[in-house]
Amino acid sequence: MRHHSNQPARVRSALSRLRQILMEPELLRASWVQMKHPCGRAYCRCAKAKKHWHLSWYVSQSKNGKPRMKCVPREQIEEVRRWVSRYQEARSLLAQAGDFYWDEIGQRK
Ligand SMILES: [Zn+2]
Repeated sequence: MRHHSNQPARVRSALSRLRQILMEPELLRASWVQMKHPCGRAYCRCAKAKKHWHLSWYVSQSKNGKPRMKCVPREQIEEVRRWVSRYQEARSLLAQAGDFYWDEIGQRK
């Protein structure tokens, strides 16, 4: 096995946090989109003014080059928020660790 003694602490800790995240089963490649809309009921206050429109949360992602969105039911928002943040954190940690080795090319004697 190759030695990693020259791996700086920040890269080691990024990779160790990444392993920890990947132990969790759920992650979702998406970003959050917040939208306001009227519900369509004639007597709802949202029919009177735009400021009373209802707030909905969507996740959006690009799939095969096409954007797509999905409404997240209110009761699932907290859960889906964890999936998305897990993915985003994993991606950023992977980039941190992966960038380090750019400078390693040609540095060993
Ligand atoms: Zn309404």
